[in-house]
Amino acid sequence: MSKRPLSFDFPADFVWGAATSSYQIEGATDEDGRSPSIWDTFAAQPGKISDGTSGAGACDHYHRYPEDIALIKSLGVEAYRFSIAWPRILPQGTGPVNEAGLDFYERLVDTMLENGLEPYATLYHWDMPQAQFDKADWTKRAVVDAFAEYADVVTRVLGDRVKRWMTINEPWCVSFLGYGSGEHAPGYKDYKQYLQASHNVLLAHGRAVPIIRENVGRDAKVGIVLNQEWAAPATDAPEDIAAARRYDGFFNRWFLEPLYNGQYPDDMWEIFGELVPKIDDGDLKEISVPTDFLGVNYYSRSTIGHGDESPLQLRWEKPDVEYTDMGWQVYPDGLYNTLSRIHRDYAPGDMYVTENGAAYKDVVAEDGIVYDEGRTAYIQEHVAAVGRAVADGVPVRGYFVWSLMDNFEWAQGYSKRFGITHVDYETQKRTLKQSGRWFSEVTRRTPVISG
Ligand code: BGC
Ligand code: BGC
Repeated sequence: MSKRPLSFDFPADFVWGAATSSYQIEGATDEDGRSPSIWDTFAAQPGKISDGTSGAGACDHYHRYPEDIALIKSLGVEAYRFSIAWPRILPQGTGPVNEAGLDFYERLVDTMLENGLEPYATLYHWDMPQAQFDKADWTKRAVVDAFAEYADVVTRVLGDRVKRWMTINEPWCVSFLGYGSGEHAPGYKDYKQYLQASHNVLLAHGRAVPIIRENVGRDAKVGIVLNQEWAAPATDAPEDIAAARRYDGFFNRWFLEPLYNGQYPDDMWEIFGELVPKIDDGDLKEISVPTDFLGVNYYSRSTIGHGDESPLQLRWEKPDVEYTDMGWQVYPDGLYNTLSRIHRDYAPGDMYVTENGAAYKDVVAEDGIVYDEGRTAYIQEHVAAVGRAVADGVPVRGYFVWSLMDNFEWAQGYSKRFGITHVDYETQKRTLKQSGRWFSEVTRRTPVISG
C-alpha cells in the first residue's frame, strides 16, 4: 500500500459513487418474464467463459437489492450507477412490455431515493435480448429503432425519478470484443461486422438522446460511456509512435471523433479501408447530438509498438510495472492524461469517471477482513489522478468505483474479483474490503492518510 499521505481537495458537489451492471450482479435470469440475453446464449457455449459459469446466479441482487442499497448507503456515497436489463423490459426486444421487469427497476430506484442515493442509470450494459439479436443485432440498422423503443419505454416510466441517463456502456467492447475479437457475446470474429456494429451502436445512442430528454424533462442529464485506454509508444522510434497512434485511433478516437466532431478519424478510415461501416446521410449529425456529460471508464495503459499481433500491425509490450489480476498495467497517470486530453481535444463538457477499479486475488483473512492492499493502492492513486485533473480545471464532476461488489466478470466468470465488497457466492455474504473502508473515508470527506 502507498505510504504517501494522500490529501484530496475535491469540490463540495463532486459526486462519489459505486457502479455495477445488470447481468453481472442480478441473477434471476429466468424470473418474472425476463427472456434470455445474448450473454446467456454465449455463456452456454463451452469454452467461452473461463470458469464455465454464467450470470444465472451472480450476486442474487435481484432478490437482495434492499441489502445492497443499504450497503451502498453505508459507503457514504451520493450516487449509484446501475444498468437496466433490456430482456426484463422488452423480452422480444421490441413490442410487448413486461410490467414485472419495469416494476423491479421502480422498486430499485425508489429504494435508492429513500436512502438518499441519486440513480445513474445505464440503458445498455451488454445484455441484449436474444430475441432482438435474432431479429436485428448490432450489425443491422434496424437495431437503432429497437434501442430507441426500449429507451422510450424505460424513460417514460422511470424518467420522473431518474434524471441521469447513460445510453450505452463502452461501444468499443460491444463492437470490438463482441464482433471483432469474439471474446464477448455474440463471439464473432469479423472486422467488417465489428465496424458496422460500432457505427450502429453510436447511431442508437444518437437516436435515443432526444427521446430520453423528452421523457425525463428539463432536468435530464444524458450522456454516453466510453472506455478509454492510454496508448503509450513502446519506444520513440517513429514506427512505434505511429503504432500507438493507430491503437489510440482504434480504441479511443474512433468513438470520440464521431460523437464530438461528427466524423470518423481520417487516419483510421484510411487504415480500415474496405472494412469501414456503411453510413447513411445524416448519421453523423445524429451521432454528434449534444449531450450533457461524457462517462469515462478507465482501467489501464497499453504499451504499443509496430508488429503483427493484430490487423492493425501492433505489438503489445509488457513493461516492468505493476499488473492487476487481469494482467492490466497499473498506470494512474493514464487516467489524468485521458481526462485532460478529452477535455482539450473534444470538450464534451462535464465528465464523470463512471468506472475505475481493479481485480486482485482476494482472501478473507481469519479475522474476517479482506486486506486488499493492491486494490486500495490502485483506487487511491487513481482518485489522486482525478484530483489533479480537477485541480487543473478539467470538468470532472464525479467518480464511480468499479465495482460495488465482486460479480460476474464476463469471459472470466467469477474468477476475477473487482469489488470493494467481497461476495461469497456460496452464501451470498457481502464483506466490505479494506479498499471499501478507505473509499468510504474519502466519500465522507474525512481526512485521509494512508499507510
Ligand atoms: C489484449 C487483447 C485485446 C487487445 C485489444 C490486448 O491488451 O491482450 O486480448 O484484443 O488488447 O484491446
Ligand atoms: C465493463 C465492466 C467490466 C469492467 C472490468 C468494463 O469494461 O464496463 O462491465 O466488469 O470493465 O473488466
